[in-house]
Amino acid sequence: MVSTPLYIRATPTPDVRSQPGADTRNRQLRDLRISVTDRCNFRCVYCMPKEIFGKDFTFLPRAELLTFEEIARIARIAVAHGVEKIRLTGGEPLLRKGLEELVRMLAALKTPDGGDIDIALTTNAAALIAKAQPLREAGLKRVTVSLDSLDEATFKAMNEVDFPVAKVLQGIEAAHDVGLGPIKINMVVKRGRNDQEIVAMARHFKGSPYILRFIEFMDVGTTNGWKMAEVVPSAEVISRINAELPLEEVAPNYPGETTVRWRYRDGSGEIGVISSVTQSFCHSCTRVRISTEGQLYTCLFATQGHNLRALMRGGCSDQQLSTEMVGIWQERTDHYSELRTAMTQQPSSTGGKKIEMSYIGG
Ligand code: SAM
Ligand code: SF4
Ligand code: SF4
Repeated sequence: MVSTPLYIRATPTPDVRSQPGADTRNRQLRDLRISVTDRCNFRCVYCMPKEIFGKDFTFLPRAELLTFEEIARIARIAVAHGVEKIRLTGGEPLLRKGLEELVRMLAALKTPDGGDIDIALTTNAAALIAKAQPLREAGLKRVTVSLDSLDEATFKAMNEVDFPVAKVLQGIEAAHDVGLGPIKINMVVKRGRNDQEIVAMARHFKGSPYILRFIEFMDVGTTNGWKMAEVVPSAEVISRINAELPLEEVAPNYPGETTVRWRYRDGSGEIGVISSVTQSFCHSCTRVRISTEGQLYTCLFATQGHNLRALMRGGCSDQQLSTEMVGIWQERTDHYSELRTAMTQQPSSTGGKKIEMSYIGG
């Protein structure tokens, strides 16, 4: 195995696995997230702050990106070992040229019992009007669209590139029209920036075919200046909405779902909250991530990945790649959010520089 250490080794945890193939905390591999580019046409304040990702910022050269063939090879092996859902992300995945071709390659994969893979995409929707149809034809099943406000000034102050709300809404509609649903809308809530928009967003999407989800501002990477004071806990989000639009909690769709679901008492749909800061869900985390340049990460907050690109470009066989990937999963100990919670919600020390969201995807 490539001997890149797993992070958070300083916190030994008991090995509680009881199922074959599980990691040390008895979690199975189910989801694969692939970042297809580190570039983005937005500069969201919580992800790629323009002061850091300015015009002098050096993005990865093309040769360092995984090719579609390399991505599909990793995905095929991951699917053979339990992955049922693949999400394409970034950076902004729609900026990767020919993305439909990758979707076509991934859509051809089957689970060991012959089932289809659920292929989804997270996007800022800037290019969705043009891309929805070809992506759907290539085999994409669903999209999640990020939208942090309906108020023009607030949204522009979040994306920092003057991108208008209306174009995102048109992108969402285009995706809906071609059947890329159910569409989820992600709103990252940052106190003092867009939290005044919570109820307006809920009102707008209530009764629509779209499921709005509120995401707590997370301490991913090291450049977004995260402070606990700027996190709006999901409990507060729910209480603010409930005061005007009464809600009740709904049972999860499946065990370990990261989104907690709530529905409007008047029957006009549901919303979700993702409380990665205030209510960690590490105990049920079944995700592995592949960064743009082919590092495998077993946690969003990792400081170190496992270089699959080097293995592949060094000529490893499928069997070697498979042994490597399975070994990494089975050694996995990650539980960063639990540690952060235990430290009263200070960023937990991982003994290194955490990977940026734009390299690893959400
Ligand atoms: N560019 C695409 C987009 O924005 O949808 C895909 C990549 S983006 C990194 C994936 C998701 O991560 C988005 O929904 C984004 O809002 C979320 N995200 C980025 N930085 C975050 C942070 N610091 N805390 C919480 N969510 C974050
Ligand atoms: Fe770009 Fe998505 Fe990050 Fe915003 S959240 S800067 S759209 S990668
Ligand atoms: Fe999974 Fe890491 Fe997030 Fe915990 S902190 S839920 S282990 S990605």
